Amino acid sequence: MEIIKSEKGRDLLCYNGYLYRFDKNSSWRCIECNTKKCRGRINLKDGQIIHESEKEHNHTPDIAKNEARIGMQFLKTTAKHTELSTQVVLGAVSLQVTKAVAGQLPVVDSMKKTVQRIRQKELMALAIPASLKELIISPEFTTTLDGKPFLLDDSYSQNQEIPRILIFSTTENLDMMVDCEHLYIDGTFSSSPSIFYQPGPD
Ligand SMILES: [Zn+2]
Repeated sequence: MEIIKSEKGRDLLCYNGYLYRFDKNSSWRCIECNTKKCRGRINLKDGQIIHESEKEHNHTPDIAKNEARIGMQFLKTTAKHTELSTQVVLGAVSLQVTKAVAGQLPVVDSMKKTVQRIRQKELMALAIPASLKELIISPEFTTTLDGKPFLLDDSYSQNQEIPRILIFSTTENLDMMVDCEHLYIDGTFSSSPSIFYQPGPD
């Protein structure tokens, strides 16, 4: 069993050649539930499978395809989190997969482009603008992975005269905070980018 990210950044569970997406509570549905009306399901508790309805699938499992997805996930995380050359990243991926699975991977040129695209994106994310006025927050940082608002306030968009304050949180987090009797606060003062000032609790 392995959990990987979908193209949209959602969790996908790979198990026995089937892919499942999170449904509710502890239950995951086969990703073919809409396209093939598949009724395959799996229930997890504390990371362990407690119930599976494998017989309910109306299609065959595809272990090699799932392994290829896991391989591509490995390629993407390695590209994102290491500075290894593109060639070395591709080499590491090929070590991860069997020959049967390698046939399911995209062609080498396409994988190279994937690595380069991820690196390019990382570089852009790292660029710090000269002033807060120039800071553009790309849409992917304004919502959570499941599409809920994450940038709850940006004072600049309302009034350009007042200092720019950004508030990142979710309404669930705020609700949780309101219910707390005690709040403990910590900050990453030394590592915040130069154009930011992170006030501490005075
Ligand atoms: Zn299914």
